[in-house]
Amino acid sequence: KNTVNVLGIEFINKNFNEVIEILKNNIQSNKKSFVVTANPEIAMFAYEHPDYNAIVQLADMVVPDGIGIVMASKILNTPIQERVAGFDLTVRLLELGNEHKWRIYLLGGKEETNKKAVANIASRYPQLQIVGSHHGYFDWKEGIVTEEIQAAKPDIVFVALGYPRQEEWIVENLPRFSKGLFMGVGGSIDVLAG
Ligand code: UDP
Repeated sequence: KNTVNVLGIEFINKNFNEVIEILKNNIQSNKKSFVVTANPEIAMFAYEHPDYNAIVQLADMVVPDGIGIVMASKILNTPIQERVAGFDLTVRLLELGNEHKWRIYLLGGKEETNKKAVANIASRYPQLQIVGSHHGYFDWKEGIVTEEIQAAKPDIVFVALGYPRQEEWIVENLPRFSKGLFMGVGGSIDVLAG
């Protein structure tokens, strides 16, 4: 089976490289997609909050970001192949982006964190096109950030607003984009800035 249900969420049941292949194909064929990297905290939060759960259900793919999810799947007798960590996906996508000159946009984090992450990414992945970035403390209703991202036409938008905000922002704004991989990356931006 391609997905395994844990706590009401359909987690993808593929290994890391297979997941990367799917995302790469989506990007290269300009297919818009929304990915949730759900750790046990996120899964529990969705279980307890119907509004957030409804948002997670809209994802094109939910990856099991944590051994806790994999262990739960085993206890339920529907084992997931392996853990797929959001941070590992982010790093691999940056590497692939560097290889294929993808356009990325980095949304979220404090202003300093965002700047540092952009600088580190730019120096580590020189062929990657960082087509824009914005810190994560802005007024969603204004729509200026969304317009800026639309104009930048990124292949990947990394959204680091923490959960549940990052997934809420993605679902609210996704209809305004025609392509791009949208993925909530939570604290990954802090690691990339470090
Ligand atoms: N963040 C943000 N805007 C917000 C709230 C959080 O940009 O309104 C950023 C925060 O600065 C940090 C990242 O989101 O860089 C992850 O935040 P947190 O650790 O709270 O989220 P989690 O890792 O639990 O998803």
